[in-house]
Amino acid sequence: MNADPLPSDAHLMPTYGRLPVALSHGQGCWVWDTQGRRLLDGLGGIAVNTLGHNHPRLVPALQDQIGKIIHSSNYYRVPLQEQLADKLCELSGLANVFFCNSGLEANEAALKIARKFGHDRGNTSPEVLVFEGAFHGRSLATLSATANPKIQAGFGPLVQGFVRVKLNDIAAVEAALDAHPNITAIFLETIQGEGGINPARIDFLQALRRICDERDLLLMLDEVQCGIGRTGKWFAHQWAGIKPDVMPLAKGLGSGVPIGAVICGPRAAGVLKAGNHGTTFGGNPLAMRAGVETLKIMEEDGLLANAEAVGATLKAALAEGLAGETGVVEIRGQGLMLGIELDRPAGVLLGQALDAGLLISITADRVVRLLPALILTHDEAREIAARLVPLIKSLLAQPKP
Ligand SMILES: *Cc1c(COP(=O)(O)O)cnc(C)c1O
Repeated sequence: MNADPLPSDAHLMPTYGRLPVALSHGQGCWVWDTQGRRLLDGLGGIAVNTLGHNHPRLVPALQDQIGKIIHSSNYYRVPLQEQLADKLCELSGLANVFFCNSGLEANEAALKIARKFGHDRGNTSPEVLVFEGAFHGRSLATLSATANPKIQAGFGPLVQGFVRVKLNDIAAVEAALDAHPNITAIFLETIQGEGGINPARIDFLQALRRICDERDLLLMLDEVQCGIGRTGKWFAHQWAGIKPDVMPLAKGLGSGVPIGAVICGPRAAGVLKAGNHGTTFGGNPLAMRAGVETLKIMEEDGLLANAEAVGATLKAALAEGLAGETGVVEIRGQGLMLGIELDRPAGVLLGQALDAGLLISITADRVVRLLPALILTHDEAREIAARLVPLIKSLLAQPKP
């Protein structure tokens, strides 16, 4: 076989540091590269492939939809949008939905809602409280809300109107709200993904809910990565027994078909009116069918319970395999959203894992992140750990840089 069978990438903008491998097809939690190598998928397309690859009920449903209608237009009613919105409101207990095509678009809509919520109350310079470690996307507004200076560098002037404090520090939140009376919304990921799998604590979320009620603010929870069953509940905030006012979703909602959504509770549901927001592709019948079928299959196959149980198996296997390793700072996360924080940069593990037949992610420099499909089996979870643990051990056996 040719050493480099892939065509040239010279005409692609070099925006990604890509590994020298291309995936040709997949089945469940396994994928094959173009050289015929079989790899175990611990990444799930970054929390996107909820149902794994080539799902036996999703694929025929999408084929059926493609043969009927792929795109119509928001000039007309789209019954599948109405159906998916009903389901998302049932699962979240919220009131209405705007559909878009990606995570950053869902967050842009949320930020527009936060600003309009202020304007509707006579606040003409509304601000939004955001957090250290946050990632909300790479459009100008969402990269301004993001905390990572590497993501912001070179793109100033940033969008104004963000105030940033430490996560899980309620005193810092109260102080910022006192100092910035124009703040109209508190915006955070229920579990930070790109920031290194950092959960907002349950008592912190509950305190934010109370503060938002007391001060007439919107609680906006970015569940683009942690939502859609990944933690073992439909939405990660449900572990805290609270409801947000605004919830952006995307990644896992379409099992690989591009989709985004922002869901609003009663306090935010009336903010955007006719003409205030829109998108050509948002809510197209193909993406909507993917969302409807994804949620249906998740329910029929008990994938929330599976994510919780198999996630526990995976976490336990990692903890057992890495017991006594002083270079492991923490193994954290919930369900099938797990991070292993090391005491040193871990980027080298990406290629090593690939050579060991495993797809993973490294985020926040030192955190090995696992986001497999929610159909993962207990055996596959143990296999992920069996492939990953020796690589981490051998990295930690080297002198710390
Ligand atoms: C991935 C992600 C986004 C951005 O989503 P895109 O679809 O890449 O625009 C926003 N917020 C969170 C929490 C994410 O994980």
